[in-house]
Amino acid sequence: MASFSIDAPYRGRLAPSPTGLLHLGHASTFLIADIRARQADGTLVVRNEDLDTQRSRPELYRAMLEDLHWLGIRWQEGPGLGGPYGPYSQSERREHYLAAWRTLRDGGFIYPCRCSRKDLVQAVSAPQETDDEGPIYPGTCRPLGGAGQEEHAAPVGVNWRFRVPDGMAIGFDDRRFGPQHFAAGRDFGDFLVWRRDDVPAYQLACVVDDAAMRITEVVRGADLLKSTARQLLIYRALGLEPPEWYHCPLIIDSNGRRLAKRHDALAIRTLREQGKTLEDVRRMLAGM
Ligand code: GLU
Repeated sequence: MASFSIDAPYRGRLAPSPTGLLHLGHASTFLIADIRARQADGTLVVRNEDLDTQRSRPELYRAMLEDLHWLGIRWQEGPGLGGPYGPYSQSERREHYLAAWRTLRDGGFIYPCRCSRKDLVQAVSAPQETDDEGPIYPGTCRPLGGAGQEEHAAPVGVNWRFRVPDGMAIGFDDRRFGPQHFAAGRDFGDFLVWRRDDVPAYQLACVVDDAAMRITEVVRGADLLKSTARQLLIYRALGLEPPEWYHCPLIIDSNGRRLAKRHDALAIRTLREQGKTLEDVRRMLAGM
């Protein structure tokens, strides 16, 4: 079991997905992560979250690194740089995810699910039956007993879901937003840990990597608060000590909408090409 002493040296991380250009929202979160690591005299790790092979592009990853450098962000470990807990690209860490999948399977925490996306959408009849990942899983494939998945040697061909303890209160103290409370089964349902196309899901990969890379504080957008509650269930199931959490306020555009990768006009790349300086970008962020 991994555990950190309260005075363990600070280790933070930037975990961008190379599926689009960095925009102002990412810049804001990453600048905060950079400041927090510097203030703690800690280490900053870059992790390339390139598991989505359909959408990840090496050229987008290179563009992201360039933008991070331009933003003045410096890190000490990452792809190309190395470090004690590499490799730092998720596409090279499959063995770690498989080991965690086996532990979860053996402990009866997960189960195979054969429902299609269409099945899930059809099962939902009211808005409260959806969460930030889509329809709350109605439990169709959830086995009645706890364990019994040992006959599956590998997570192939079907989705695998984490069975959430219905009604369990999950709380954590966010270093930016204070105490957070969620209820498993109401705020989110049984979530994916491995996808039928044989790709580990974000929730599992993120926990495995943050623990293996000895991250002591996760800085990321407030859109992931519910994912933190899900991830705490995985930490507990794997017997791992969770890090501290600092969620950053979301940046919204002038129409009150959240920035997304499709807002190319607000991509750092575009702003740079328009001749904006780092100071201009900081001013824009302050204004938002
Ligand atoms: N790759 C994820 C994203 O870009 C990282 C989320 C996280 O920081 O945990 O949304």
